Parts: sequence; structure tokens; C-alpha cells
Amino acid sequence: MSASQTPPATAVPGDDVPTLLVKIFGKDRPGITAGLFDTLAAYSVDVVDIEQVVTRGRITLCALVTAPSPTQGGSGSAEGDLRATVHSWAESLNLQAEIISGRGDNRPRGTGRSHVTVLGHPLTAESAAAIAAAITSTGGNIDRIFRLAKYPVTAVEFAVSGAATEALRTVLAPEAAQLGVDVAVVSAGLQRRAQRLVVMDVDSTLIQDEVIELFAAHAGCEAEVAEVTAAAMRGELDFEQSLHARVKLLGGLDASVVDAVRKEVRLTPGARTLVRTLKRLGYQVGVVSGGFTQVTDALKEELGLDFASANTLEIVDGKLTGRVTGAVVDRAGKARLLRDFAQQAGVPLAQTVAIGDGANDLDMLNAAGLGVAFNAKPVVREAAHTAVNVPFLDTVLYLLGITRDEVEAADTHVG
Ligand SMILES: [Mg+2]
Repeated sequence: MSASQTPPATAVPGDDVPTLLVKIFGKDRPGITAGLFDTLAAYSVDVVDIEQVVTRGRITLCALVTAPSPTQGGSGSAEGDLRATVHSWAESLNLQAEIISGRGDNRPRGTGRSHVTVLGHPLTAESAAAIAAAITSTGGNIDRIFRLAKYPVTAVEFAVSGAATEALRTVLAPEAAQLGVDVAVVSAGLQRRAQRLVVMDVDSTLIQDEVIELFAAHAGCEAEVAEVTAAAMRGELDFEQSLHARVKLLGGLDASVVDAVRKEVRLTPGARTLVRTLKRLGYQVGVVSGGFTQVTDALKEELGLDFASANTLEIVDGKLTGRVTGAVVDRAGKARLLRDFAQQAGVPLAQTVAIGDGANDLDMLNAAGLGVAFNAKPVVREAAHTAVNVPFLDTVLYLLGITRDEVEAADTHVG
């Protein structure tokens, strides 16, 4: 357009404006996109929309363009010429071309937009069929599908319009449980991109162990403590009572056990990748634990976390007393700490993500903008917004719409 021309009020054609959908399919090679638009440029058409994907070396390129103005005089129509030229260009490159006449822009997308992320290990065709059918049953339309990751799980994202996020969650959660895949539904929009604080539970979430059981092994009361822990995590016991009962069994242990336990802690696979990637993307990351600061402070230091809060084992004269000091971090305490961290980070609660596995994480998971039950006990899995049941913590990145390629690019570009 030359400088003297006045641009139209809107670049999007009205419903009465003839448009052409030009679809190209075939073996990908450099220059196809440039070649198609070069061919179209001879007809002075405008681009309304473009989508292109390459799957296993095959390109699918769709261009929605305004139809060319009819020729003044002469024989045939400009549209007929355009069709013939595009087909002959495509044939010369061994590509298939299809040109469909229509009017106006794409059909407007329905209101209510969500991202449905599916994690499969593997992702079977049966699961993909069931998920797609379940989306359709809510009245939702699948606008786009793309793969977020192939490692350590296959992760695909469906962009869905025309259905409420909550309705999708209700239909997809039982479907996912039955299929043995993980499905997360989050509403689309800027909020998703603005999530800026991730707060994690520690025991059986950030790390594979229950720290109190590591201490108990040194005290020779592992079985006894493990039984109380399991009952508390299933929600059968008051957490604070159970904590006091278990810590009491550690009374008299030498304080040197703290260092030994720190060394025994095993991070969950993907934990470092998750934290490193989130930090590089500018997220703040914290942990809240019903375990002990003697371990969480070391994790905070090692992983470069922004926040950490837990209970503190009392140590007097080089021995554990069998008591904790200060207020106990219990179920309500974890939710309160999430709020505190959010306030300190300057992030609204709706833009926080919480991850946990136990009954004492439930208030925190429900208070967060997105609560993720990670390999959680059934009571937690059923109550959380979304559940991840593969044992890789970095898969949480995919729920935030971060692709494996982005994770790896971040690793390459930061020295
Ligand atoms: Mg836990």
C-alpha cells in the first residue's frame, strides 16, 4: 500500500466479502510458504489468516485470503487465473493444493475458551478419541491441537471454545481417570500467561521421601512413624496431632542425624528442570512443608527457591527434644503461607499455582489459581483442579502451556 492510500477501517473482511481458503499439503522443504504468497501476490489479495504445521516432514499450509477483484474486460476471471496459477505452482513442487471459495473471515470462535492439556505415557489413540468425544459432548469445539512435548510423556494441548472451563473439567476428570491419562483444563486468556508464583509441597512432591520417615529410620521407629504418616495423608488423622506424636518418637536422636537425612533426600525426577525453567521464565517458586526447616532450608539454598516454610525440630544440647518449635505448618497453615508468599511476591492469588500430594495440601490447592494434585492420594486427586499421575515433576510445565522445546531452548541459551 502506498503512503497516500487510506487504510480501511478494519483489516478483517465483512461477511459479504468473497474470500478463498488456499490449502497446500505435501513434503516440506524451504521456500514453500514464500512461494505460495509470492504466487498470490500477483493478484493483490490480502491475507486474512494463516496456519501452518509440519508433521514428520509433511507441511499443511492454510491461507485465507481475499478473493482477487474481477478483471476489467479480458477473458475469464481473476479468481480462475489465481486458481490455475496456484495449482500449477503446486504441481511443479509435487504439492497438493485445494482452493475453497467462501465469504468473510473464519467462523468466529464460540465464547468460553479453555486449554485442555492431555499427558499420556503413552498417549493411545483410544484415549485421544475419548477425550475428543468428551469435549464434543460439552458443546465445545476443538479449534487447534498441538504437541507440547514428547518427553518424558506425550503432552498435547487442545484449544477449545464454546464450553465453560468448569463443564469441561467435570466431564473430563472421570474420563481421564478411567483412561489412565492426565487431563488439565485451564481457562484461556491472559491470566494463564500471568501465572507468576508456584508453591510446592515437599515430601512426596518436590522430593520422593517423607522426611520424618528418614529421621525415624535413624531412631529405629520407621514402621510406626510410616503408619501414622499414611493415615494423616489419607486425611484420617488430624495433622498437628499426628505430627506431635511422630516427632515425639524422635526425641533423644543426635543432631548429627540432620546432616545424614539431608544427604538421603532424593529429589523427584524433573524437580530441577521444573524449578530451573520456572526461574528462567521469571516465576517465583516456594515450598511449604509439614516437614522440617532443617531440610527445606537446604533445598531452598540448593535449588535457588524464593520462599520456604516448614516446622522446626527443636534441638537442645545436640539432641532432638522430640518437639517442634513455633506454629505448626498444617493444612490451614499451608494455605496461609501460599497467601503470604503471594503477597510478598506481589502476585494475585488467582495467578498462583500450588502442587501437592497430601490431604494437608488440599486447602492450598483449592486457594491457588491452579491446584495440581501430584501423584496424590485419592482424596486429594478428586478434590484438586487437576491431577498429574506420572512421576515427573517437570510435566507441570506443560499444564502451564510451556513446551518441551521452550524448556530445552532455555537450557541452551542460558550459560
Ligand atoms: Mg506431601
